[in-house]
Parts: sequence; structure tokens; C-alpha cells
Amino acid sequence: MAQVLLVEDDSALRTSLSRGLSERGHAVTSAGTAMDGLNLIVSCKPDLVVLDIGLPDLDGREMLRMLRAASRVPVIVGTARGGEDEIVTVLDAGADDYVVKPFSVGQLDARIRAVLRRGGEEQPRPEVLVVGGLRIDPAARSATLDGSRLDLNPKEFDMLHHLAVRAGQVVSKRELLTEVWQLPYGGADKTVDVHVSWLRRKLGETAREARYLHTVRGVGVRLAAPDEFGADR
Ligand code: CA
Repeated sequence: MAQVLLVEDDSALRTSLSRGLSERGHAVTSAGTAMDGLNLIVSCKPDLVVLDIGLPDLDGREMLRMLRAASRVPVIVGTARGGEDEIVTVLDAGADDYVVKPFSVGQLDARIRAVLRRGGEEQPRPEVLVVGGLRIDPAARSATLDGSRLDLNPKEFDMLHHLAVRAGQVVSKRELLTEVWQLPYGGADKTVDVHVSWLRRKLGETAREARYLHTVRGVGVRLAAPDEFGADR
């Protein structure tokens, strides 16, 4: 169920759309003027706004610009004209979609669901992880150490990323096998050892003189920045 704010000055249309959208499971708040609409966006924080472009107190495009300056709420514009120029203008002003009057409640509801689905799929860019001089960018699948790019194979990158997410903690070989290799534990655990030693070489360190990658015998592996890692911690 979505919180929908309907801004429409035609009271008969406002009533019938409110009822229709409520029947389709939305929680509808409505306003008859742009100013009331803007106030409700601030006070009610709707999931989506259905905005009539022809409002008495403020041009709908102007309202759209004011709204966009304050909020990223998805907006579907209702336009009576539906000409190419009008549609381009409202989309450029920040509308997510539009409906041309007269439209059915069914069509509006379908567009509301489509816009909300699209918004929900928008994934935030995964966070760049920093561990001491290591910088791991999951979106670019690249890693640098003290500014120099590390030439990692895909599994080395996945393992480094997994360890960086859990920086400072010991991660078991079992976890690495299941999470990085999607393999059950047993038999293939040498795979982890081999990749740890490859990764260690690429980080320019040795098991004996570990800086970032520490093997905890019988337990697993820990990634930590050199100054965060003490022998008794
Ligand atoms: Ca109107």
C-alpha cells in the first residue's frame, strides 16, 4: 500500500480518483491547490504524488520545480493537453511519468505501481571500503593499495572485499568457501589457502611479516590496517 497525494482542483475528479485509488489499496490524501499540495508533501511525506498540471493558484510545472527543489518523491503528472511539448516539459521539470486526461483509475493505478517499482529497484551504489591504505570499490570491482591499483583475479577481489566488509574480524575458511566460492566446506579448503597466499603476494607481504592479511591458525583470516592490528588484540 502506498501513501498517495493527489493534487487536483476539479473536485468531482478529485473525489472519484481518491475513491478509485483507495479501492485499489492506496492511502490517499488530496489537495485542491498547489499550495495545499506543497504543504501536504512536507507534513504527510507521501510515497508518490499525482499532480494535475492545470491548477488555479500556481502553474503545475512551477509547482513541480518547487517540489523538486525540496523532495525526491515520485510524481505522476496529469495533463489535459498531452502534446509532445507539454510532456517533454513536465518530464524535464522532474516528473517521473504522466497520464493524459481523460484517464481511467486503472491506468493511473498501473502507472503508480510501475513508478514505485522502478524506485524500489534503484540500488544505492555499493560503498567504497577503506582499510588503512587499501581502498576497495565494489561497483568498479577495483582495489588500490596506497594509490596503486592491485591486479586481482575475480576470486581474489571477492575475497578481499568480503574480508574488508568484516575488517578487524577473523573470518573462517568455511565462511569464505561458502560466501566467496559458494562451496560447501571440506575437501576444497586448500582453495582458500592458495588464494590467501596469492592475495598476500599481491599486497606485497608475507605470512611471516603480515601487514594487512593475518592468518589465525586453525581459525581463519583477518584483514586489518597495520596500525589497527596489535599482537594482543
Ligand atoms: Ca485542473
